[in-house]
Amino acid sequence: MADTLLRQIALVADSKRISASDLSRVSAALQKQATRDLVQFWAVKATVDAFPTLEDVPIGYWPIIMMDDINEPGAAGFHTEDSNGQPFALVTASDDLDVWSLTASHEMLEMLVDPSGNRLMAGDSPKTDQGRVQFLVEVCDPPEDARFAYTVNGILVSDFYSPHYFDPVAAQGVRYSFTGAVQRPRDVLRGGYLSWVEPVSNNWWQETWFSGAQSSFRNLGPLSAQNGSFRSQLDRITSQDTQQALAGGMAAAIAKGVPAETGHDVTLARTASLRRQISFLTGRSDDRSTGTQVDRTDRLAAVASAGRAMNNRDTQKRRPGREDRRRSAPSVWGAEAAE
Ligand SMILES: [Zn+2]
Repeated sequence: MADTLLRQIALVADSKRISASDLSRVSAALQKQATRDLVQFWAVKATVDAFPTLEDVPIGYWPIIMMDDINEPGAAGFHTEDSNGQPFALVTASDDLDVWSLTASHEMLEMLVDPSGNRLMAGDSPKTDQGRVQFLVEVCDPPEDARFAYTVNGILVSDFYSPHYFDPVAAQGVRYSFTGAVQRPRDVLRGGYLSWVEPVSNNWWQETWFSGAQSSFRNLGPLSAQNGSFRSQLDRITSQDTQQALAGGMAAAIAKGVPAETGHDVTLARTASLRRQISFLTGRSDDRSTGTQVDRTDRLAAVASAGRAMNNRDTQKRRPGREDRRRSAPSVWGAEAAE
């Protein structure tokens, strides 16, 4: 990828419901989603880091703040209203990790692709009596529902559309969204929506599928750019429905085919194995598999005598093969797998 501006996202939990370890895990998952998945379709270079408080966030970072009580209905979501016009997002904290991780992922992806919240892309209107219109580039809205989410490191994150989403016609083998849930250009999935401005009347329109058996259209009238970015104005209108769509969390995702095994069990097993290795290497255990306590001096003596034996052997005729393999230093990460 050619050089592009680095975009820096800060995750901050202003809520007792979210532990520091959960915040770090979600931050790592979002970083991976941005650098591995998003870049396949959108030229964005980004870092994502967790910070304990808003005061710790360096300048130049765009904060995503998880809060218990976002009093104002519709205050959740995206904003460009900091005093310097820099983007930030408020996310309703939840006891359910999957629900707030999905929302934070949604906000992050849209912030990275369109920091201003005003990016428009021309295309044919889904409403057949309209011609060319300008869509607001909100990469997560059409497939925002939890049932179309996927996992990164076992953390639930949002699907997002690719630039092909605005293609005039559907073609074979084209990916319209990262997971492939969106199968045609400008398709709105259940629980999602799409917003555009019709340039002749200057009215904003949405196709929404928040209830019922199919999507429907609604006319929102004109929006003034003086009332904040188009995205923040539209978020205010749709925030209740969006929260509803994302609230399904992992259960909805699993029902729709996301593997039931989340990453955390695997992580815990790896951690137990790693701790045994560390105990062994630091002399607190003589057995990397059981973690039995041994005296540290015994351990050091054993290491010293092993070293002497090794030196002696180097003077003998070397035999290649198995012996050499066993002598290679085990890596902390790889040793368990190699055995
Ligand atoms: Zn959105």
